[in-house]
Amino acid sequence: MIQQINALTPIEEARAVLAADFDLKFSKAIETETRPVFERVKDRIPEIEWPFYAPLIFQINKLKREKNAVILAHNYQTPQIFYGVADIVGDSLQLAIEATKVEAETIVQCGVHFMAETSKLLNPSKRVLIPDSRAGCSLASSITAEDVLAMRAQYPGVPVVTYVNSSAAVKAVTDVCCTSSNALQIVEAVEGDTVMMIPDQYLAQNTAKKTKKKIVTWAGACEVHETFTADDIAELRAAYPGARIIAHPECPPEVIDAVDFAGSTSGMIDWVKTERPAKVVMVTECSMSDNVAAETEGVAFLRGCNICPHMKRINLENILWSLHTDTEEVTIAEELMEPARAAVERMIEFSRPKT
Ligand code: SF4
Repeated sequence: MIQQINALTPIEEARAVLAADFDLKFSKAIETETRPVFERVKDRIPEIEWPFYAPLIFQINKLKREKNAVILAHNYQTPQIFYGVADIVGDSLQLAIEATKVEAETIVQCGVHFMAETSKLLNPSKRVLIPDSRAGCSLASSITAEDVLAMRAQYPGVPVVTYVNSSAAVKAVTDVCCTSSNALQIVEAVEGDTVMMIPDQYLAQNTAKKTKKKIVTWAGACEVHETFTADDIAELRAAYPGARIIAHPECPPEVIDAVDFAGSTSGMIDWVKTERPAKVVMVTECSMSDNVAAETEGVAFLRGCNICPHMKRINLENILWSLHTDTEEVTIAEELMEPARAAVERMIEFSRPKT
């Protein structure tokens, strides 16, 4: 058998191309240019790592201006992405909606694949790139369109409310989408006293506690949030006396019952900024806590988080690669575009404050 030795892996090849095409040395000029970003994240990123990140941040920002691109970063992205190169930050839906308001021809989605699909649904004429299309999600991959159709056959006439953490194919067979912040509002707004709420069993169970409607769900879960337990919360309380503990509703109900506040990503950020507790534990994805910490001086953020491996597939190197090579472009089958977009737009319509 022929064996090739010393061959470069695809990542090494990409690094070699980036090193040849960009100046990635940590010069005095780059240090000065990126100083404001470093000042913001210096409590979260060791100084020794900055000479690696700073040239990439500098080159990404330069290239995105040249290519008329906008970078969207989810709250779970690392601080060097969130504060270094992102133009728009937020949860997945905020990102996709905000992207409709900018002139850029290209969107680079720093998040997971379903988020890039949602951006494409709401921005069909723009090119949407994701730096690593393998960035998946345990919730989105837990259910297929065929599964939803089978549920519909089992519960004829019952409306399907689908969490935005789902594929475009699943959204296309959905009546209306929801987020973790508007889930209850959407469940109350759809017709009938029974609702199918998919694919997150815990978001469904946490919502079911607040409504009289009967909720039918699916056994999907977020691998980051499902592992937290009530015992974990008790241990955190013992380890950090006086700290406030807040959690995301993708956690099991026993966790939500044990914390001081439960809310969506944006709800948790607002809570910390308003309450300004002396000490807080965010029971969610770790980078979210880092990013909120960088803008809330005087609040001590204590560790009680998990890392999403899918979100962490996105890094500064593959963002530069994505912009440089216009890859990997996110496409959605023509026949899915209209019905999937309609489910998202119906949610936006349902969540609009009544005047
Ligand atoms: S944190 Fe959970 S819901 Fe979000 S992308 Fe990761 S696996 Fe999916």
